[in-house]
Amino acid sequence: MTIRFAERMDHIGTEGAFEVLAKARRLEAQGKSVIHLEIGEPDFATPDNIVEAAVSALQAGFTHYTPAGGITEARQAVAGFVNRRLGVEVDPAEVVLVPGSKNILLFTLLACIERGDEVIYPDPGYPVYASLVSFVGAVGVPIRLREERNFRMDLDELASLVTPRTRLLIVNTPQNPTGGVLTKEDVEFIARLAVEHDLLVISDEIYSQLVYDGFQHVSLLSQPGMRERTVLMDGMSKAYAMCGWRLGYGVSPRELAAKMETLMINSSSCAAAFTQMATIEALESPESERAVAAMVEKFRSRRDLVVDGLNRIPGMRCARPDGAFYAFPNIEATGFHEKELADRLLDEAGVAVLPGTAFGPAGKGYLRLAYTQGETDLAQALERIEDFVNKEAAG
Ligand code: PLP
Repeated sequence: MTIRFAERMDHIGTEGAFEVLAKARRLEAQGKSVIHLEIGEPDFATPDNIVEAAVSALQAGFTHYTPAGGITEARQAVAGFVNRRLGVEVDPAEVVLVPGSKNILLFTLLACIERGDEVIYPDPGYPVYASLVSFVGAVGVPIRLREERNFRMDLDELASLVTPRTRLLIVNTPQNPTGGVLTKEDVEFIARLAVEHDLLVISDEIYSQLVYDGFQHVSLLSQPGMRERTVLMDGMSKAYAMCGWRLGYGVSPRELAAKMETLMINSSSCAAAFTQMATIEALESPESERAVAAMVEKFRSRRDLVVDGLNRIPGMRCARPDGAFYAFPNIEATGFHEKELADRLLDEAGVAVLPGTAFGPAGKGYLRLAYTQGETDLAQALERIEDFVNKEAAG
């Protein structure tokens, strides 16, 4: 039988990182050495206290279905955490726990967006935004992020993109793939714009704990008029080195949280019970707070190593990001096209990176490197990239 696919499958995209990872693993299976800077996943082990909480939960019988929105204590833990960090009073009924925060994006789009609605999202940006916006039949409206603005949005340009059909704005700070962060003034402007045009906002703050040099993260959720129109999207993957645990959460107005629960009932049923219990430990214990701070310090020192190293390579220019764990160098002056350079670095130099265009057309002329490996590997990756570029320039 020839399977006939639904038309909507013509409109879904993918994440380049998973494709490059698969290719890199094939090369490794053939005996090739590859340094992995392609996937946005911390190399650190999940802190011991969180692992121990999960083991205890399994032993205590947390092996069953839970309520679709999450175990009450876990929802309370998220509400308390958001309250302490962002100064926003949150009711546990406004919190939904899901197997990975990208579900919050999907559920919001499914619950609120009609065909033909316009959705604004960053370009370059996390590729799942453009993919899912188009999958649900909405019209994607990219807002370009430029290097000369440290990859912050141009606020006038953002305002000019809003039309009567604009329904949703997706904001991500600190940002994947550029590491750019929005300032307090940026966040205040975006909030005013959203209120003025009655927009729903997804605020993807999954990197909000990964900021450097004293930068203060400001959440859209904490702005006047934003509680009733913001979906805060966050999760355990990045700050707690828990990507494989699959635990994300959304904080949204109660009526939208209820729709998300319905979508959970119709899809995953619930996030894994023991993972939810480990999340309580992660969000509430001072030990995890110390572990996160130690990881952030390591990321900061890796950032400097990578940015300084990239800036030494002829033809490359790299801004120093204030958050997340990505470097986004401009490589135009190397003479390479970003896709060719990424492919050849993997095939010929054994360094897996992503072309900037994996994050949208505005990523043209850039590469993305995740500094999620130890300093020895990062130094070696930089050496391999530099040798490759120099050899090509000489040849
Ligand atoms: N949002 C951004 C900006 C990301 O970079 C990622 C993962 O790379 C996610 C969301 C999804 O994270 P998860 O589904 O693991 O919570």
